[in-house]
Amino acid sequence: MKAHDALYIDGAWRPAADRDVIEVVNPADEQVIGRVPAGGALDVDTAVRAARAALPGWAATPPAERAARLTALHGALVARKDEIAGTVTAELGSPLKFSEAVHTSMPIAVAASYAELAATHAFEEKVGNSTVLHEPVGVVGAITPWNYPLHQIVAKAAPALAAGCTIVLKPAEDTPLTAQLFAEAVHEAGVPAGVFNLVTGVGPVAGQALAEHPGVDLVSFTGSTAVGRQIGAVAGAAVKKVALELGGKSANVILPGADLARAVNVGVANVMANSGQTCSAWTRMLVHRDQYAEAVELAATAAAKYADRIGPLVSARQQERVRGYIDKGVAEGARLVAGGPGTPHERGYFVSPTVFADVTPDMTITQEEIFGPVLTILRYEDEADALRIANGTVYGLAGAVWAAGEEEAVAFARRMDTGQVDINGGRFNPLAPFGGYKQSGVGRELGSHGLAEYLQTKSLQF
Ligand code: NAD
Repeated sequence: MKAHDALYIDGAWRPAADRDVIEVVNPADEQVIGRVPAGGALDVDTAVRAARAALPGWAATPPAERAARLTALHGALVARKDEIAGTVTAELGSPLKFSEAVHTSMPIAVAASYAELAATHAFEEKVGNSTVLHEPVGVVGAITPWNYPLHQIVAKAAPALAAGCTIVLKPAEDTPLTAQLFAEAVHEAGVPAGVFNLVTGVGPVAGQALAEHPGVDLVSFTGSTAVGRQIGAVAGAAVKKVALELGGKSANVILPGADLARAVNVGVANVMANSGQTCSAWTRMLVHRDQYAEAVELAATAAAKYADRIGPLVSARQQERVRGYIDKGVAEGARLVAGGPGTPHERGYFVSPTVFADVTPDMTITQEEIFGPVLTILRYEDEADALRIANGTVYGLAGAVWAAGEEEAVAFARRMDTGQVDINGGRFNPLAPFGGYKQSGVGRELGSHGLAEYLQTKSLQF
């Protein structure tokens, strides 16, 4: 695997201040596939200075020119699509087909959407006797996770570029090679030096230095709620803007009139995709008591089909964590109907597709995010009970409702405390705002709502 032994700062690949490195491991066979610098506070400072120096020029660039750079960036990503898919498969472990269809195509679609939005967004509006200017927030410190390595980067960098912000990115330590490919694409797209900078490194060192840096105006973070809380506190103390995309524990609510087989099969596929490492996965399936036994059987059969279709988890640490939750589910009295805590392969950080029945709302596996291929199925008595269970966690990122008709499903969805709901199997929309209610986060990504996060307003009165 190609790896740069350098950081991308101020338009060039430069050595890090220290010689610390991160070893990148292929989670399917546990082999080291590359080494990248583990940047430190000094490197973050150099990158933030470069971003600050580039800010006035980039912020003043006409939106049409920013759109042209984003169009070129889209083209550079398309040109690298096979390399991106292969790299994601090597460092995240997802099957190549999934890397092509989702890990590569989705961020390419998001990049295209921001190329268009940069050209069409109203960066000025009239409100009575005022003209309101939507101006870039400034220097963005972007901190991303490994689960959708390129998507998480594009979902921050593309709107920030469209808005006229400059960026320092600290990607996840498990998937830095995809981030390096993105930096290559940015360079090739002719984005001016200093506008986008990449510092690979570990969270508590480079990530923390970036979040705390006084030269950063907005910290945009995607990751765990625990780290998000720390970053929110640091940003709050410095009165800087913050966007947090955190964990989830979303509900898949199947109302009695729904097509049960379809709702269960799509629900299982949703949880097993990316080996369950999806923050918006519908990990709690809610089924009416009259249909419960049938749904459990359907889900167990569906899950078994994923046994040799899903990839490993990203790391030994994640594998241990997920197996720990499976043990906990058994210990708390849930009934295992597929999978379990065993390791299905000799090598690689695999976990079997797992389904728990007889799960109650207060169990740990209902309340906490597992981030692995583990589905819990809960029984409800009536709609009020289903709503109580659906809303009964600290999270509120996504969800699904299935019913006989759209109207009934929408009526239920309106009462859910969550940021996105798919109605009867609705399709992904890269322009729809994505983000959390409650402890799932602060702010929104994607589309014009995502762009607005990187803008601040100035009102001129006439
Ligand atoms: P994580 O919070 O450990 O790491 C995320 C990023 O933060 C990484 O780049 C990491 O290096 C960095 N980081 C870690 N400690 C830091 C610190 N003290 N200061 C600054 N940065 C630090 O999460 P993870 O294990 O990489 O990802 C899994 C979690 O992310 C899950 O809980 C999942 O739900 C969540 N997630 C949420 C979304 C979303 O959009 N809501 C998307 C993906 C993942």
